[in-house]
Amino acid sequence: MLDKFGSIIIIGGLYGLVLWGALAYWALKDAQSRTENPTFHFFALGVNLLFPLLGLLVYVLVRPSVTLAEYRSLEMEAEALSHTASEENMRPCPACGREIEHDFVLCPYCQTRFAKRCPDCHKAVRLGWRLCPYCAATLEVAVPRAAAGQSRR
Ligand SMILES: [Zn+2]
Ligand SMILES: [Zn+2]
Repeated sequence: MLDKFGSIIIIGGLYGLVLWGALAYWALKDAQSRTENPTFHFFALGVNLLFPLLGLLVYVLVRPSVTLAEYRSLEMEAEALSHTASEENMRPCPACGREIEHDFVLCPYCQTRFAKRCPDCHKAVRLGWRLCPYCAATLEVAVPRAAAGQSRR
């Protein structure tokens, strides 16, 4: 009877030991994925070794909320967004070369008209296009005589 009780304590103790080590190891790995600061890694390991379970709770409360991988992807996303706003939305005017926005239908600087609005979806389409590439609406084509003569040659 006492032997059985003893073995239960040993098995329970072993489980506890494995759990204790695993939690401390997990906390260390988690800390490494969140910061490169070695002091914080030491804290994560130490608090979980000294105070099993309670230390884990404390660690989860104070750890950085974003992992390094998440932080990098957030940074990249912000960079991509600022690119779209500043550069990718702009293009040089085909006539005077000044930077204008992509969906402008005419250049506000030299007043050259190089596109028009689709009557259906109101996106900017080129003057020579017969169909709207966005909604497939038929467009009225007003090809300038000079350009038409050039394409026939
Ligand atoms: Zn222009
Ligand atoms: Zn359209």
